[in-house]
Amino acid sequence: MFDSIISFFRVPADTPTLNRARYKALTTQIPLMYTMVAINMVALSFTLFGDAPPTLTILGPAVLVPVALIRSAALLRSDVSALSNKEVRSKLNSVVIFSILLGPLFVFWSLALFRFGDAYAHIHIAFFVCITSLVCINCLTPLRQSAIILAVSSIGASVIYLAIGDIPVFKIIAANMAMVVGAMIFMTMRTAKNFTDLVEKQDILSDQSLKLKALNEENKRLANLDSLTQLPNRRSYFAELKQAINQCEKTSERLVVGILDLDGFKLVNDLFGHPTGDQLLIQVGRRLRIMLDDHICLARLGGDEFGLIMRHPGSDKELLRLGRDICHTLRAPFQLRDTTTNVAASLGFASYPAAGLTADILFERADYALCYSKQNSKGDVVLFSEEHETIIREVSSIAHRLKEADLDQELSVVYQPIINTLDGTVTAFEALARWHNPILGKIPPNVFIRSAEQSGMISQLTVILFAKALQAASQWPNDVNLSFNLSSFDICSPEHIMRLLAMVENSPVPANRIIFEITETAVMQDFERADESLTRIRRMGASIALDDFGTGFSSLSYVQRIKIDRLKIDGSFIQNIETDAASQDIVRAVANLCRNLKLQCIIEGVETKPQLELLERMGCNLIQGYYFAKPMSEADTLKYLDNTDNSKHVIAYPNRSF
Ligand code: C2E
Ligand code: CA
Ligand code: CA
Repeated sequence: MFDSIISFFRVPADTPTLNRARYKALTTQIPLMYTMVAINMVALSFTLFGDAPPTLTILGPAVLVPVALIRSAALLRSDVSALSNKEVRSKLNSVVIFSILLGPLFVFWSLALFRFGDAYAHIHIAFFVCITSLVCINCLTPLRQSAIILAVSSIGASVIYLAIGDIPVFKIIAANMAMVVGAMIFMTMRTAKNFTDLVEKQDILSDQSLKLKALNEENKRLANLDSLTQLPNRRSYFAELKQAINQCEKTSERLVVGILDLDGFKLVNDLFGHPTGDQLLIQVGRRLRIMLDDHICLARLGGDEFGLIMRHPGSDKELLRLGRDICHTLRAPFQLRDTTTNVAASLGFASYPAAGLTADILFERADYALCYSKQNSKGDVVLFSEEHETIIREVSSIAHRLKEADLDQELSVVYQPIINTLDGTVTAFEALARWHNPILGKIPPNVFIRSAEQSGMISQLTVILFAKALQAASQWPNDVNLSFNLSSFDICSPEHIMRLLAMVENSPVPANRIIFEITETAVMQDFERADESLTRIRRMGASIALDDFGTGFSSLSYVQRIKIDRLKIDGSFIQNIETDAASQDIVRAVANLCRNLKLQCIIEGVETKPQLELLERMGCNLIQGYYFAKPMSEADTLKYLDNTDNSKHVIAYPNRSF
């Protein structure tokens, strides 16, 4: 019984949130209560001043008012959020103790005054006790034990005092007060319960909203994160880029956008499997994150492409140095689950505001610089410059000139031999287009071919070039084939292919001497239609070579899906083959693959004797490149063949004797 009374008055320890809410409410309500008590005391002292002794009228307020002020100031100053749960509880316990101490003191003082003054003064005292107690009970409601202590001690004692007195009117007042106090205690208990329920509900709600917030944040984090490398993803990269551009716009600062692409990654993926490819990407991400400053934003944009955003990039020289460092770092071997592999990286930079003012343009320009690097200096860094701007402008003027040109007159074809190093014969000539325009001069084939593709003129060009190439091939011996490049637009139109095949039929060159070179990108654009074209070509007896192998997107998967007869390994793998272990691995693996699939493997871009010797040691014997011959005119092919006497399988090797 005693224990349960004690525990009723003691503030519980297991409701920390509720305790906090109670204390917070009390820090404003108790000062209000003290203010009311102090004012009422002073007013009562004034009524009884002169009638009652100064020990009561002066000393009473003189003691209670400063205590009330000090306590109010302390409560108003206290910051609940800075207190621990234990401290809050002890403060609440001290509120209970104060009500135990001050309640009786206050009643004692009031009742002591009853012996003095006239009937009006006595009514003031009864009014004072009643009103002040009601204020106190109300203000202390959040801490129900304090409210009840005060109700019982102040009004209880006053009721007893008035009830046992002789004056009938005070007896009635006492009965009234007892009823009021009963009702007040009932109300206090209810309000205290409502208060508790409210706080508990708020607690549950804020707990739920915290969980929701955490969940939202996690979702946001995942939506902006690349799950494989744990780097920001493409969406987050562009959001960051737009924000960075906005800031640089205000501060007129420079900013650099970088796109990094791994060279030969697709082959690693195909040769060693996707889990190994994934591991490689994770390690590339880690290596880059470690070497780059924290203020450089690094993201994985998809596939083997990574994006960079550099604030305060320094001078162009410093930027290019950093770019080269990045490429160099990635060139070191990667230790993967069941293999060690090498990859290279090409990097394109575009800087704000020089290369563009919006995120899309900057990204496009950085991508252009990346493509430029891949085509011209694989494994290196290129910063988008005015020179590139000029090229872009030229391409659009090329499209215009192409439309006006007398193509039959201005287009010509040159031929580069493909040599079989086992017997020294020319197995084929690859036909390579040339355009000499009276206004623009000589335009490189990849430039005007792209332009013709974009402007829808490519089929027209292909027909003109093919007619010239067939004419040349008709003069070569029967064992010399014609290798002819088709654009993606050519093979995506089976009707157009039928037209080319009809040209073969109407020429003296048999279809089995024609090889059509296609690229993976061309096949990928529209697999169904490309497959139909290729089937028609093969049905006619011509063959198909997959060109620029290793530079495209899907590599080996397409070798398996489409029926090809030859595979041409891109010259970029040969450039540094003597020193670059990664290129060696790739060429060796692809050559083995060709042997297994019974495909002819042609190596492009062989320029030096050491390259040739290395390739021959790897078992590669079909070679094309400047080492043997640069592309030559139709007339020169005949002289070249005359010198080599192809039908006798003898060829004069430059710098080399058989
Ligand atoms: P491609 O089909 O890969 O042609 C090989 C390119 O490599 C040719 O450049 C050739 O001159 C060059 N090359 C050959 N040996 C070496 C070497 O040892 N070292 C170096 N650095 N380069 C060498 P070209 O003639 O400038 O042609 C560029 C590209 O233009 C071709 O690449 C092909 O994609 C396209 N192209 C050329 N002619 C035609 C055509 O008639 N039709 C179509 N659709 N595309 C063509
Ligand atoms: Ca080619
Ligand atoms: Ca090629």
